[in-house]
Amino acid sequence: MGAKTRSAKGFYFYFVDEGLNGGYKMKKITSLLWVLLIAVGLLAAGCGGEEKKTSSAPAAKEELIVGTEPSFAPFEFPEKDSKEFTGFDMDLIRAIAKEMGYKKCTIKNMGFDALIPAINSGNLDVAIAGFTITEERKQQVLFSQPYYKSGLALVVRKENNAVKAFEDLKGKTIAVQLGTTGALHAEKLKGQGTVVKTFNTSDLACIELKNKGADAVISDLPVLQYFLKNGGSEYAKLVGEPLTAEDYGIVISKKNPELAKNIDKALDTLKKNGTYDKLYEKWFGSKPAK
Ligand code: GLN
Repeated sequence: MGAKTRSAKGFYFYFVDEGLNGGYKMKKITSLLWVLLIAVGLLAAGCGGEEKKTSSAPAAKEELIVGTEPSFAPFEFPEKDSKEFTGFDMDLIRAIAKEMGYKKCTIKNMGFDALIPAINSGNLDVAIAGFTITEERKQQVLFSQPYYKSGLALVVRKENNAVKAFEDLKGKTIAVQLGTTGALHAEKLKGQGTVVKTFNTSDLACIELKNKGADAVISDLPVLQYFLKNGGSEYAKLVGEPLTAEDYGIVISKKNPELAKNIDKALDTLKKNGTYDKLYEKWFGSKPAK
């Protein structure tokens, strides 16, 4: 009794019950298997060339997953008539990803306070959203080298002549974005009758000011300047001196120090080859201060 099976290559094997001819048939099967093995081996050697090439050179990395909170023009905001996000941070991280050899840079939109948790749970490779490098955040994540000098500032409604500086905010209502350094700064006045209203985006904080639900907004100076230039000056104005000096950094997980090192290396290259300056000028209209 023999069962007939067809191999992928079209050979026929006869599996036979133990019998007089069994030894001979088994030998035949074994030699056929050898032929097949050699053929497969040769094929594999032929295809293997490409694999070898990629293992000797650094492997092309597929995708860098980036998180941002895109209500922070001119750093990250929705591009007009497009699903893409644009801004200084967006251009910079795309250039960094390219410099690091990634084929794709995917940008995900999240709440600002969700970005660091998403880095730590491994859902994002990096986060870039005008993040100020702070000691408190450094306990949780790694930061790249600083890439932008910023600081907090104050806007009030145009007709408000009572608030000229941070100290004048005692007993007033301040609108801020959740989880930001601006929110932390506003908290400092809380014990003195000041009300702090937190919003998911900085746009919403500014709308609250417009609607007279708040007396002031504390946010980052370049973002407030952009807001004033793009319609905000109809009802709002900057007052006082900048409240702080802060540096922005790109956020990376503590589990990924290698990525942090490569981002710094890419930033060094972009600063040396003029790409960084070009992007800075594109978005801020002047060269970065050295
Ligand atoms: N620079 C501020 C911070 O890090 C604000 C950032 C933002 O609102 N996107 O908290």
